[in-house]
Amino acid sequence: MWVDEAVSESACCMGDSRSAIVIGGGLIGCSSAYYLCRDGWDVTLLERQKIGSGASHGNCGYVCPSHAMPLSGPGVVAHTLPSLFKRHTPLSIPARFDPSLWKWLLQFTRQCTNARMLHAANGRNALLASSMNLYREIVREEAINCEWTDLGLLLVYKSAKDFDNYKATAELLNRQFAIEAISYAGEAVKELEPSLKAGMAGGWHFPGDAHVRPDKLLSGLKTAIQRHEGVIRENVEVSSLRRDGARLASVETSQGSLTADVTVLATGAEAPQFAEAIGCRLPIQPGKGYSLTMQPLRNQPKIPMIFEEHHVAVTPMASGFRVGSTMEFTGYDRSINPKRLALLRKSAAEHLEEPLPATVDEEWAGWRPMSVDGLPCIGRAPGANNLIVAAGNGMIGLATAPATGKLVAEIASKQTPHINAEPYSLSRFA
Ligand SMILES: Cc1cc2nc3c(=O)[nH]c(=O)nc-3n(C[C@H](O)[C@H](O)[C@H](O)COP(=O)(O)OP(=O)(O)OC[C@H]3O[C@@H](n4cnc5c(N)ncnc54)[C@H](O)[C@@H]3O)c2cc1C
Repeated sequence: MWVDEAVSESACCMGDSRSAIVIGGGLIGCSSAYYLCRDGWDVTLLERQKIGSGASHGNCGYVCPSHAMPLSGPGVVAHTLPSLFKRHTPLSIPARFDPSLWKWLLQFTRQCTNARMLHAANGRNALLASSMNLYREIVREEAINCEWTDLGLLLVYKSAKDFDNYKATAELLNRQFAIEAISYAGEAVKELEPSLKAGMAGGWHFPGDAHVRPDKLLSGLKTAIQRHEGVIRENVEVSSLRRDGARLASVETSQGSLTADVTVLATGAEAPQFAEAIGCRLPIQPGKGYSLTMQPLRNQPKIPMIFEEHHVAVTPMASGFRVGSTMEFTGYDRSINPKRLALLRKSAAEHLEEPLPATVDEEWAGWRPMSVDGLPCIGRAPGANNLIVAAGNGMIGLATAPATGKLVAEIASKQTPHINAEPYSLSRFA
């Protein structure tokens, strides 16, 4: 509530009324607000611009249990990291002075062991698997028209060596998490997906994945929050969080001061700016990605695909076609680099029979909130026990949003969490 109309916390907690402020109107903030509303909280969601102004808008829409493995793993330091420093590659870190980025990279290299990789994979898998079930419930119960499609995800390889090498990961995913992947060698991959050019080395298909149109998902969630009596305030920017001892005293905004029993910080890649109130540093970097969205192609792919050598993803939607990805560590820079967009077009031209149209409906860039260990940060802030952080969902923020939101509501309500919350706790950074 706004402070000038505020009553004291004890008064506000009399009866059953419990108030929550959620900061950030991306998929994580909206999912948190949704589950808090469902749990009986009086929710106010604050968003600096419009709902879905951040990474949640133009992403590739994959609901992808197949993405349980983190970016970090044995061999990444030797093979992937050096290539990151090359210009004009899909993954890039332009050499520049940024102490927080260098510290993040150093911490990231420490994650690249088998044990750390499996720890992260377990935590990611729990969120991914739970979210798949929760999405099916929400989409049905709230009648969200987000173009939900159950056709899986296809990883496409031009190199026979890379295609063969993926077998070990496919087997690991199956052994650890019962995730099924089917191999299509040589021309079999074109038979599965005729929109591909001939001559691919092969593909791995994950039939258990699904995809959506992210902006439609967000508008469905917005309506659902309002239906459950949550209040959404757009164009309200949070400037600071004021702490009083071990509690958050107020949320300072562009439209005045607010108080609530619980505050949820879901500002994606920008969450680290509130480190002082949180009581610990959040090792999250903005990993900028791009997408191009256009009208449906005539020979539109049916199955979403990742062109693995380029890390470029394509998403067929009933209402359009999206080509996305690339990862740039250029700090909090919102500019759209035409060279990155050209890489997306180049990769599509090398893999798809039909050329992309010269003009598109939207050229977009967004910041993935990249946590250093591939696990999101979900839990009470070490510095303020009525502040809950939900950020750092990295490359799988859409695919993990419902379980993240449900966990936030369970933590706020002091319920037994539906999955083990320990891997996401902020105590790992305190
Ligand atoms: C190219 C690309 C493709 C991707 N593809 C996929 C995919 O296929 N599947 C998948 O699972 N994930 C994908 N992702 C990742 C996914 O988009 C993110 O993980 C997810 O959107 C993060 O959601 P969020 O709510 O944490 O952050 P955001 O969506 O960035 O939301 C944060 C919100 O907080 C608001 N905000 C920030 N600061 C303030 C403030 N001070 N006051 C008020 N409001 C504030 C912002 O305006 C923003 O709306 C992709 C990302 C990119 C870039």
